[in-house]
Amino acid sequence: MPIRILPPQLANQIAAGEVVERPASVVKELVENSLDAGADQIEIDIEKGGSKLIRVRDNGSGIAEQELVLALSRHATSKITDLDDLEAITSLGFRGEALASISSVSRLTLTSKTLEQSAAWQASAAGRDMQVEVRPAAHPVGTSIEVLDLFFNTPARRKFLRTDKTEFSHIDELIKRLALSRYDVSWQLSHNGQAVRRLKAAKTEEQRQKRVAALCGRVFAENAAFIQNQYGDVRIWGWIVQPQACSSQLQCQYSYVNGRMMRDKLLNHAIRQAYGDMLTADQQPAFVIYLELDPRQVDVNVHPAKHEVRFHQARLIHDFVVSALGDALSQLTAPQLAEDRV
Ligand code: ADP
Ligand code: MG
Repeated sequence: MPIRILPPQLANQIAAGEVVERPASVVKELVENSLDAGADQIEIDIEKGGSKLIRVRDNGSGIAEQELVLALSRHATSKITDLDDLEAITSLGFRGEALASISSVSRLTLTSKTLEQSAAWQASAAGRDMQVEVRPAAHPVGTSIEVLDLFFNTPARRKFLRTDKTEFSHIDELIKRLALSRYDVSWQLSHNGQAVRRLKAAKTEEQRQKRVAALCGRVFAENAAFIQNQYGDVRIWGWIVQPQACSSQLQCQYSYVNGRMMRDKLLNHAIRQAYGDMLTADQQPAFVIYLELDPRQVDVNVHPAKHEVRFHQARLIHDFVVSALGDALSQLTAPQLAEDRV
């Protein structure tokens, strides 16, 4: 076969293969866009586990009428302009691929209004032909994105969807993770017309604790200690559960780097090491940990879905986490030991 440039639709569907694994991945991309747009109210409506409908509505800055079509194009982003920006990412998105990818495997409608505009506009892209139509619409300042019939035109993908219940549980878990990354945002999640989660913006320390308790459960809340530590311009804070309360039932392992949720091997390793032999083999650490550092010190452009990061000073970060958490844990367990000795 001769070498050919792929048609844009197919190129987008291939890219979608990397970031759009299941409905929860669509929700992640849409919600991260809402957060990048400065929204502090985000509503997520799901039907049939997301295979029928995913709708994310925000009160962020909106997209101008003349940029609606561009927003749906591949490699189109408002978040970075040059290599310098790429090396110090402060937004959640930057690849300019999510909307193009999602719209290539669904029927997507984007409705938005900016503060400057007097009216809202709507653009729809129905997977197959990528023809984008723009028409007037009604919407307050902010954006709504509706994704219908995910994978309708990629049957092989659609076949991999699990039951509605399983797909929704992935979405719910994701919203939990995201809600723990932004206390200042109010969240609402519904499934088949029923509200499943309603979280008011948490402004005070007490309200934040309440949110943690609502999301991680009572056992976590009652046994977690708040920690905070700093080394140079690297800061760590959050909650860790004292070893006695850690069990395999208490599934709560959330870590964030500069506000981005992570499943980072290095961080997990450091946390496990901090607990050391305070945990038996069948106990799992439980934590909600936030690491903050100069964005130039982390590379987030490692994985299309951005689950992993690379720290420039990996060893230093690892050892700082071990010692910060180790100190906190030994203080937590010290009074108990003293009591035992009496
Ligand atoms: P990226 O987030 O990597 O820039 P996306 O494909 O996710 O790429 O989005 C493309 C662009 O569309 C964004 O850069 C942003 O300008 C705009 N956009 C997407 N969603 C929203 C939203 N909810 N509010 C405002 N702008 C948005
Ligand atoms: Mg994005």
